[in-house]
Amino acid sequence: MSEQNKNDRAAWLQGPAAECLLPERQENPWRLVLLGAPGVGKGTQADLLHQRLGACHLSTGDVFRAASRTDCTPSPAMKAALEYMRRGALVPDATVWEMVHERRSCLRCHGGFVLDGFPRTLSQAESLKQLMEDEKLALTAVVNYELPLNEIVDRLSGRRTCEQCKAVFHVTRQPSKTAGLCDRCGGCLFQREDDRPESITVRMEAYEKSTAPLIQFYQRLNLLVPVVADASPEEIYARTLTLLKQRGSERARRAS
Ligand code: AMP
Repeated sequence: MSEQNKNDRAAWLQGPAAECLLPERQENPWRLVLLGAPGVGKGTQADLLHQRLGACHLSTGDVFRAASRTDCTPSPAMKAALEYMRRGALVPDATVWEMVHERRSCLRCHGGFVLDGFPRTLSQAESLKQLMEDEKLALTAVVNYELPLNEIVDRLSGRRTCEQCKAVFHVTRQPSKTAGLCDRCGGCLFQREDDRPESITVRMEAYEKSTAPLIQFYQRLNLLVPVVADASPEEIYARTLTLLKQRGSERARRAS
C-alpha cells in the first residue's frame, strides 16, 4: 500500500475540524466492527487491517487517550469521561455517542473503516445502526475475537505500550530487547493505567455485562464473523482475512 493510502486519522483523533490526508478511494471499502474483550488484540488487528486494506483505524479509546494528553483543558464531559476510563469503567453512552456523532464523516471515509472499541453497549450498537442507515452505508462484517478470560487477563496485566509510537510489548511473552525501552523507536514503555489489576477486573465486568450481548445482536443481523484469537498477530490476521473473504464470496453466491 502506498503512503497516500494511509489515512492519518487526524479528523478522528483531533475532531472534525482537523483534516486527514485523503486516502485512496477503494473499490469496495471494508467497513468493519471489531468485537472482543479488552486485551484480546483488537487494536493490533485493527492496525494490520488498516495497513494492509487501507481502512481507517477508528478507536474510541484512542480518542480518549489523545484527549488526556492534549494541553487544552478538556470539556467537563471529557474530564468526567477520562475519570471513568482511569477506573476501567465504560464512559457513559451519551458522551461516547456525542464524540462519535461529531466524527461521523469518518464513516464515509474513501478507504473504509475499522471500528475498534465501539460499539460497546447495545445502545451504542443501535445508534450506530441508525447512523449507518441514515448515511446509506452498510457494515461489511463484525469480527468477534474469542479467547478464554484467564488468557486475556494475563495478556493485559503484562502489556507495556510505547509512549511515542504506541508499539505494544509483553513483559514475558514479547519483551523488548532493553527492559523499559521500545525496540522500534527507543521510546519509554509504560503500563496503561487501565491495565493495572484493579482496573482490569472492572473492565472485564463491564465487557461481560454490556459488550458481550452485542455478539447476539450482530449474529441476528447476520454480520458476525467469529475468529479464535489464540495465535500470533499475523496468524490471527490471516484467519480474519480468510473468514472475511469466505463470507464475501458466500454472500456474492447467494445474491447471484
Ligand atoms: P480501549 O482502548 O478500547 O480499551 O478503551 C479504553 C477505555 O476507554 C475503556 O476502558 C473505556 O473506559 C473507554 N471507552 C472506549 N470506548 C468506549 C465505548 N465505546 N464506550 C464506553 N467507554 C469506552
